[in-house]
Amino acid sequence: MPENEKGNKRIYLSSPTMHGEEQRFVAEAFDTNWVAPLGPNVNSFETEMASYTGCGYAAALSSGTAAIHLGLKLLGVKRDDIVFVSDLTFSASCNPIVYEGAVPVFIDSEPDTWNMSPEALERAFEKYPHPKAVVVVHLYGTPAKLDEIMEICDRHQVPVLEDAAESLGSTYKGSFTGTFGRIGVYSFNGNKIITTSGGGMLVSKEEALVREARVLSTQARDAARHYQHSKIGYNYRMSNVVAGIGRGQLIHMSEHKILKNKIYDKYKEAFADISEISMNPMNPKGDANNWLSCITLEEGCRVTPTRIMDALASENIESRPIWKPMHLQPVFAGCDFFNQNAAGISVGEDIFNRGVCLPSDIKNTDEDMEKIIRIIKGLF
Ligand SMILES: *Cc1c(COP(=O)(O)O)cnc(C)c1O
Repeated sequence: MPENEKGNKRIYLSSPTMHGEEQRFVAEAFDTNWVAPLGPNVNSFETEMASYTGCGYAAALSSGTAAIHLGLKLLGVKRDDIVFVSDLTFSASCNPIVYEGAVPVFIDSEPDTWNMSPEALERAFEKYPHPKAVVVVHLYGTPAKLDEIMEICDRHQVPVLEDAAESLGSTYKGSFTGTFGRIGVYSFNGNKIITTSGGGMLVSKEEALVREARVLSTQARDAARHYQHSKIGYNYRMSNVVAGIGRGQLIHMSEHKILKNKIYDKYKEAFADISEISMNPMNPKGDANNWLSCITLEEGCRVTPTRIMDALASENIESRPIWKPMHLQPVFAGCDFFNQNAAGISVGEDIFNRGVCLPSDIKNTDEDMEKIIRIIKGLF
């Protein structure tokens, strides 16, 4: 545990939590010399993920970003195609659109769940009636307004790719996020609710799509004895060692979710008497995994997000700003954006200005939580 100069142990935002079973599956891979790509852990991890989420079929890949990239290719996204994507997200949601030479169009959040605004999405369809795909993010684990979004996209006959990188284990009307769109994507990056050190999964109810994802992720070899290629492939497959970590983690998925939920509830209760603080919203039709617990501060509050982050940092406690909206990123400056509001700053920018992601590590003790809460409350 890295300590700071005052001897305070580091309190993390969201770091890996290992249990032991991971090593058993990894050891098996070593013992059988199945260290190289593919092998029994990859196949089993795919089957176990499909059975946990009810997603149908799953392809284990090297990252969530790789899964989004292949997902877009499977949906036929090509040069100059328009792709609608949530604006308030991590850049990995939209970078793969640009890898394909397609054009991201950013859709603002609504305030109820912080996810893609159905109203802004409708307006985007008025201007661009034929986008190739819509990428919907479930931010910080809170399910988006899927009824409304799916209805709009179905009506326009445009496929949805769910970026469920942050929301593995979250449900909407009883089904797991990632299983509503034609394609869903999960991430096992180091800070996610379960991790393989790095990795991702592409899921779909359509077996043919998942089979094609596996082909594209292993250099797109044709079924010939020699090396023959009829299309461009990628080296995006998950290795058998990494999949072993994932299998061990998945055993503890439900437990991780319960602990994340407890962290959220603890903050919510602690800040109930501070009117300037609001928790990140939940979707009443869903059950979130609370990957990260976030707060927003009332407009004009003298305690700013920066003050909170500085106060925590001085005690060796990690926190971070809300994702900076994509339409405000220099690299996407030329892209179109649909604001939920008729005028003024967008919902996403407002959340970015007033929000903070609080430590949400499931290894945080009761004392850690009390310390964090004491520091924040001390500023009011
Ligand atoms: C983490 C994340 C990704 C990318 O996943 P990697 O496995 O890190 O490539 C994509 N989208 C969102 C919203 C994420 O939070």
